[in-house]
Amino acid sequence: LAAAALNGLKASSVEITPCTLPKTPPANADLVFGKTFTDHMLSIEWDDRNGWGTPHIKPYDKLSLDPSSVVFHYAITCFEGMKAYKDKDGKIRLFRPDMNMKRMNKSAARITLPTFDGDEFLALIKKFVKEDAKWIPNERGYSLYLRPTMIGTQESLGVGPSSRALLYCIACPVGPYYKSGFNAVKLLATTEFVRAWPKGTGEAKIGGNYAPGIKPQIMAAHEGYAQNLWLFGNHHELTEVGTMNCFVLWRNDKGETELVTPPLDGAILPGVTRDSILALAREWNEFKVSERKLTMPQIKEAVKEGRLLEMFGAGTACIVSPIKAVRYQGEDIAIPLDPKDSSAQAGPWASRFNKAIMDIQYGEVEHPWSVVV
Ligand code: PMP
Repeated sequence: LAAAALNGLKASSVEITPCTLPKTPPANADLVFGKTFTDHMLSIEWDDRNGWGTPHIKPYDKLSLDPSSVVFHYAITCFEGMKAYKDKDGKIRLFRPDMNMKRMNKSAARITLPTFDGDEFLALIKKFVKEDAKWIPNERGYSLYLRPTMIGTQESLGVGPSSRALLYCIACPVGPYYKSGFNAVKLLATTEFVRAWPKGTGEAKIGGNYAPGIKPQIMAAHEGYAQNLWLFGNHHELTEVGTMNCFVLWRNDKGETELVTPPLDGAILPGVTRDSILALAREWNEFKVSERKLTMPQIKEAVKEGRLLEMFGAGTACIVSPIKAVRYQGEDIAIPLDPKDSSAQAGPWASRFNKAIMDIQYGEVEHPWSVVV
């Protein structure tokens, strides 16, 4: 069949089956990331003869899949991570969801899963979130984490494009990453493992990129480090921090104050938070903003010369994650936090980015990035 004959994803044809045994959401204080799911799920099947089927919002339930399904063998799966926030007036908001839709389509295309109309999927996510609105905690710092996922469901051990797929979204209420203010972390800059490489799949949010990162993370944790600082190449270029993008604020060798993050060269996940921090920094126009490569020897030298100002990770889960030390080649390099306050757990700029983004997410500041559901 020609591609044109396939059905596109259509939000208007959604069928909603309300849950008959709704659960009681846990108290905010008891929330553990990714453990408790809401009453419903959004689910749409696809096959290569018909295209997208009828979308369903239905009671959260187990999937029934054949053990031969390609997802179990060849990691034909991609996903997204985004959040729904409740503002002080009780309105539900999403943060730049169009970026998640675009990124998910790119991830899907990279592993030959079907693409979809992002506006239609977003419309469905909005309906789903409304259905489970009682699960969105109404306190700043709390939110409903949304996990759009697509898996290849063809029953076959052949390595090839999946003739069937399931696109779904589940949701879990989450608390703030840091319960009491920030908690700066120590990183292990690993030269033993590589997360991603040029012309690889590092820029795609696909399952296959994540399983191999767990063992290095556990090894770092055994040595007392929260995350790996992923390096690449003989010059030990900084790439990402755990599952976050990486930012450095320093005085560069020309004496300019500069915010640097690695460029989107194919090995870096194009983070929504990364893009937001870059856009805010460019709008504020208080220092130079660069997307360029940065190496561990450069970081070491800058710290020695007192030119390193702040370093932090950035992602949806935490917004910013301040870094207080990096272990590199057997040495702990101390990274400054706040020069004015020795007990601070975040530098002034990390705090400012965090607040600016949070104010937009919770509708304290009206901004086109915040989309009311
Ligand atoms: N890098 C990786 C590898 C990630 O998994 C994530 C989380 N999606 C990020 C960076 C941060 O992206 P975002 O700001 O869109 O959450």
